[in-house]
Amino acid sequence: MDLLEHQGKALFAAAGLPVPAGRPAGTGDAAAAVAEELGLPVAVKAQVRTGGRGKAGGVRVCRTLDEVRAAAGEILAMTVRGLAVEAVLVERAVAIAHEAYLAVVLSRAHRGPLVVFAGEGGVDVEDLARTRPEAVVRVPVDPLLGLCDYQARDVAAAAVAAAATSRTPARPTPLVEPAATAKRIAAVVHGLWRVYHDRDATLVEVNPLVITADGDVVCLDAKVTIDDNALWRHPDLAALGPEPDPRERRAREAGLSYIVLDGDIGVIGNGAGLVMSTLDQLAAAGGRAANFCDVGGGASAAAVALALELILSGPGVRAIAVNIFGGITRGEEVARGLIEALKTTPAAAGVPVYVRLAGTGAAEGRALLAAEGLVNVRLVGDVAELVRLVCAAEGA
Ligand code: GDP
Ligand code: MN
Repeated sequence: MDLLEHQGKALFAAAGLPVPAGRPAGTGDAAAAVAEELGLPVAVKAQVRTGGRGKAGGVRVCRTLDEVRAAAGEILAMTVRGLAVEAVLVERAVAIAHEAYLAVVLSRAHRGPLVVFAGEGGVDVEDLARTRPEAVVRVPVDPLLGLCDYQARDVAAAAVAAAATSRTPARPTPLVEPAATAKRIAAVVHGLWRVYHDRDATLVEVNPLVITADGDVVCLDAKVTIDDNALWRHPDLAALGPEPDPRERRAREAGLSYIVLDGDIGVIGNGAGLVMSTLDQLAAAGGRAANFCDVGGGASAAAVALALELILSGPGVRAIAVNIFGGITRGEEVARGLIEALKTTPAAAGVPVYVRLAGTGAAEGRALLAAEGLVNVRLVGDVAELVRLVCAAEGA
C-alpha cells in the first residue's frame, strides 16, 4: 500500500527525521490558513499516490496567501497519471542548495533490503542508474544484523562528496561544515532504516533529500510503500489506505479474491493456481478477462453465488467461464450457488455461462445444473473446450 506524502512524512517525523513543518488541506481557503500559520513562502503539493507530481505541475512554491489559495484550488482539481488529487500538503518552503536521492528498498536482486543513494536528486533515479550507473551507491543491509553504523557513514560520505561537485543547482555551493552535514545525513539513513524496518515497508524513498545553504538536511519528499501482508499488525497504517473498490471489499469480507481487469470475459475458479492458469489459457487463445473471482477451497453455495453476482456486476462482461476442480470444494455446492445467482441476478440474463466441473461432487453438480434447464448455462467437458467456447462467445 502506497502512503500519501504527508502520511509518509508523519512517519518520518515520528522517527525523528527532519521534515519541513506543514499540514494537509482540502480547500484553497484551508490551504491559505495553514500557510498563514506557517509563514510564507510555502510549497503547495498535490497529495496523490503516484510520483511525477512536480513535472505535472502539482508542486508550487507560493509567496502570497492569494497565490496559495489559487495554487491549492488548481492542484486539488488536477489528476496526476490518472489519479485524482486527494488533498494538498502546505509546508514551509525550503531553500535548496543540493538535491540527492536516498531510499531503503526491498531489492529482488539482492534478496533483501538495500540502501540506495545518488548524489543527483530530483531526477528519475532509474534513468540515472541506466545512463551513469557509477553515480548510484548501493549498500545491501543484512536483515538480521540491520543497518550498521559504518554503512550509514559510508552513504553520508558519498553524499558529502557528491555535494562538493554537485551540478544541482547549476553552481556548486561548498558545504559550510561537511562533517556536521555528514552526521546529519548518517542520522537520516538510520531513521529511514527504522521506518522501513519497524513499519514493514518495502520502499522508503526521499527524492529529493535536500542540503540547505547552511548545511541542514531535509527530507523534502516521502514515498512510502507498506507491505500489504504486514498491514494486519499496523492498524494505524491500514486505516490510511485509499477507499477500496466496494466490490473488492465485499469480496474480501466474504473470503473471496475478486479482481477487476479490462477485457470482457468473467472468470470464476477455485484456487489461485487454477484461476491463473485459466487466465493464461484464455489469453493464449486471444480472450481477454474482464474480472476474476477465486472462491478458494471449500466454497459454500452462498460464496459461489456472491462470486457470480460480483462477476456480473463488472461492466462489459459478455461471457463467463467457471472452472472448478473439486477437492474440498464440492461440485453440488458450486452448482447450487450458480443456480441461485443466475435466478436472482437480473444482469445474468443473456450472458452465456460455460461451466467446467470436475472432481469432488462433479457428477452431482452437473446433474443439478442440467435439471434446472437454465438457458444460458452450458456444461463443458474440459478446460480446452471451456476456453474455446467462451472465447467464441466473446467474439460473437
Ligand atoms: P515529485 O515530483 O512527485 O517527486 O515531488 P517532489 O516533492 O519531489 O517535488 C518536486 C520538486 O519540486 C523537487 O525536486 C524540488 O525541486 C521542488 N520543490 C519541492 N518543494 C520545494 C520547496 O519547498 N522549495 C523549493 N525551492 N523547491 C521545492
Ligand atoms: Mn520527489
